[in-house]
Amino acid sequence: MTFRRSPNLEHLKASETVAISTEAKRRKAAGEDVLDLGVGEPDFDTPAVASAAGIDAIQRGCTRYAPNVGIAPLRNAMAGALSRMSGGRVVDAERIVVSNGSKQSLFNACFTLFGPGNSVLIPSPAWVSYPQIVHLCRARPVMVPGAAEWGLKVSVADLERHRDDSTRGIILCSPCNPTGTVYTTAELRAIAAWAAEHDVWVISDEIYRRIHYGPGPAPSMFDLDDAALERSVVIYGASKAYAMTGWRIGAAYAPLEVGRAMAALQTHTTTGANHPAMWAAAAAFESPEVDADVERMVGAFRRRRDYLVARFQDQAPGVEFVEPHGAFYLFFRVDGIAPGREIGGAKFCELLMAQEGVALVPGSAFGDDRWVRLSYSVSDRELETATDRLMHFIARLAEPNTKG
Ligand code: PMP
Ligand code: GLU
Repeated sequence: MTFRRSPNLEHLKASETVAISTEAKRRKAAGEDVLDLGVGEPDFDTPAVASAAGIDAIQRGCTRYAPNVGIAPLRNAMAGALSRMSGGRVVDAERIVVSNGSKQSLFNACFTLFGPGNSVLIPSPAWVSYPQIVHLCRARPVMVPGAAEWGLKVSVADLERHRDDSTRGIILCSPCNPTGTVYTTAELRAIAAWAAEHDVWVISDEIYRRIHYGPGPAPSMFDLDDAALERSVVIYGASKAYAMTGWRIGAAYAPLEVGRAMAALQTHTTTGANHPAMWAAAAAFESPEVDADVERMVGAFRRRRDYLVARFQDQAPGVEFVEPHGAFYLFFRVDGIAPGREIGGAKFCELLMAQEGVALVPGSAFGDDRWVRLSYSVSDRELETATDRLMHFIARLAEPNTKG
């Protein structure tokens, strides 16, 4: 029978970040000398306390369906962790809905709040899945380009220029994938006030909140007043700061009514999150030992960020990059590197992989192919070797008349 995609998938494109990581793994498995700085996944093992809690949960028989919104110990532990990060605000566990990774939380939030006829503003460059998720809701993503001189962030004026009567939401990501940029509390407050004025939902993806190079965790919607949280869904999870990508535990903090609808939605898709993984995540969010592990991992990301930035400044002084204040990405501009030749992100990454065996992600995946994303969530040694190769590649590309 002829296969025709349903109109639901009219805009569907598989995730480029996932595809690049799959390809890098395939090449490595085939014995090729490939360094994967493409995927955004911590190189660390899950903290031992969390893994042990997962094993213990399996052995205790926590292998049946769990409550659809998530087990109470996890919702409480996550609420506790969010409260500690948020200057004493009491985060209500009842408003937390746990899902299979924050990607599902994002999907649930968008599918619950947006539909045909609605548009959703997405500051750009943006993580690959945001526009795709909005399309899957049959709503319209509207990309709002950030200002290069401002870390590719958007201002209220930028948002206002792209708003019309169909605008129902905005998806914010801070610390940002792919740029590493971080919105200040004042900037978040201004965006929240603009959203309130125009009846716009704020989906605030704070999955990288703890991976912040300023003091404490990155500014959050939880730092604003209660009214701002009444029109927001905050996305959080275990994947990044807790090095638990494979456990697939994410969550949304939403107004009760919205959370109930999101939970009802997932009764028909995944039922809820993986039961033993929820116990592992509960241990992660409440254990002081894991907290110390997270601090160590963030310290390592900070060291790698400093190393990379110093090498770019010393060895590729003409190459523009966004100064990363959080997450584990460096976003740098490639379109001006090769004199007289038009080399965008896709071509740059293709040549780099072919000539130096380093996988990066072209900016086209995030909506702007003048740039490339490098993920420094790899070991110090791998980062050093990959940076040597990258600097060598950039230097050759920058020579006049090289064939590339
Ligand atoms: N948001 C952002 C910005 C991400 O980079 C990722 C990583 N894939 C996710 C959400 C989803 O993470 P997960 O589903 O593993 O919680
Ligand atoms: N968030 C990561 C990335 O941007 C993981 C892959 C994905 O889920 O997109 O590389």
